[in-house]
Amino acid sequence: MAIVSLTRVVHFSASHRLHVRALSGAKNRALFGKCNNPAGHGHNYTAEVTVTGEVDAATGMVFNLDMLKKILNDTVLKRLDHRNLNVEVTAFRKLNPTAENIAIEIHRMVQKHLPKTLKLEVKLFETPNNSVVYRGEIK
Ligand SMILES: [Zn+2]
Repeated sequence: MAIVSLTRVVHFSASHRLHVRALSGAKNRALFGKCNNPAGHGHNYTAEVTVTGEVDAATGMVFNLDMLKKILNDTVLKRLDHRNLNVEVTAFRKLNPTAENIAIEIHRMVQKHLPKTLKLEVKLFETPNNSVVYRGEIK
């Protein structure tokens, strides 16, 4: 059976502040730069969400794209778009909303709605030049 990957792209805008309380203000500014701005600042994020699995013999599809679109609307867009991540997203009340952690959170939210037979990968662009990938791997 052929294994194929299917990707849907979703764009969202959100603000955040990256800050580690255990570090000094100077160290936070050095570590996070503009992302440490006390009042926060925004990014236009792009998430490429890829599901990989067997092509169904009857439908010819790996997964229904309309369903994937609905899942992304109900998770990524509904919970993250135009939000202050530190304040409005429970996962980031204590967790630094870095691109890494946002990708992990998107993976967690989307995975809940997918069949266990599909592999999920989230590639998150914080800027056109900077991206992270999370495939659900933990150590
Ligand atoms: Zn930032």
